[in-house]
Amino acid sequence: MSHVDSDLIVTGLRKEYVTAAGSLTVLNGVDLSLTRGDALAVTGPSGSGKSSLLFVLGGLERPTLGSVRLRGRDVFAATETELAAWRQESVGFVFQEHHLLPQCTVLENVLIPRLAGSGTTADDVARATQLLERVGLQQRLAHRPAQLSGGERQRVAVCRALINQPALLLADEPTGNLDRENADTIGSLLLELSRDVGNVLICVTHSTDLASRFPRCAELRDGRLTSL
Ligand code: ADP
Ligand code: MG
Repeated sequence: MSHVDSDLIVTGLRKEYVTAAGSLTVLNGVDLSLTRGDALAVTGPSGSGKSSLLFVLGGLERPTLGSVRLRGRDVFAATETELAAWRQESVGFVFQEHHLLPQCTVLENVLIPRLAGSGTTADDVARATQLLERVGLQQRLAHRPAQLSGGERQRVAVCRALINQPALLLADEPTGNLDRENADTIGSLLLELSRDVGNVLICVTHSTDLASRFPRCAELRDGRLTSL
C-alpha cells in the first residue's frame, strides 16, 4: 500500500504538556499510515500517552509538532471553528465511560451527533434504528441509559460514534468496564462495523485478547509507536 493511498497519515507527531512542574513530552515522533478498512490496536503502559494520541488524532488537542492528514486534509491547518466542524463530521469517539445523556432515549442518544446541523431527518432516524438493530438493541430504542446493562450502554455509544459515518473511529479502552463476554461483543462490533462503514479504526486497549483480533497492533512506549 503506497503512502499516498492512505486515509490517515500521521507524521512526526509530538505532544508536550506544559505544567507547573515544567514541560512533559508524551508523544515524541509518532508516525502512522492507515487506509480505510484498516484497524489498529494500540497498547502501552498506563501514562504512556495512549489517550493523548487519540485526542490529537481526533482533533481534540493540537500537537506541538507534526501533522495529521485525513483523506487528504491537513487537520491542524484549520482554525478552531473549522476543526470543531471537521471533528463532528469525520471522527467518532468511543470512551471507556459511555457518556450517554441520561434524560434521552437510546434512539435519541444515537441521533445526538446529527443535531448539530439542520436537525434530524427521517433518514437519520432510519440509519440510527438500523445501527441499533445491528447491535441487537432493536427492542431497546425507547429505553433510557439507566435501564440498560453496561454492555448495552456501550453498544449504544458505538452506534452514536458511527451515526455520521466518520472517516476515523477512535476507541479509548472501550471494553475496560465490561466483563469478558460483553467485551468480546463490543470488540467484534467495532471491527465489523468499521469495516462496513469503510473507515479507519484505532482502538486503545489493555486486553491482549482484543488486540490479538486486530489486523494491526502497535505499542506506545517512550513517546513512539512501534508495530508489534
Ligand atoms: P495513557 O492514556 O496511556 O494512560 P495519557 O495520554 O492519559 O496516558 O497521559 C500521558 C501522560 O501525560 C501522563 O503522564 C499524564 O499525567 C500526562 N497528561 C495527560 N494529559 C495532560 C494534561 N492535559 N496536562 C498535563 N499532563 C497531562
Ligand atoms: Mg488513557
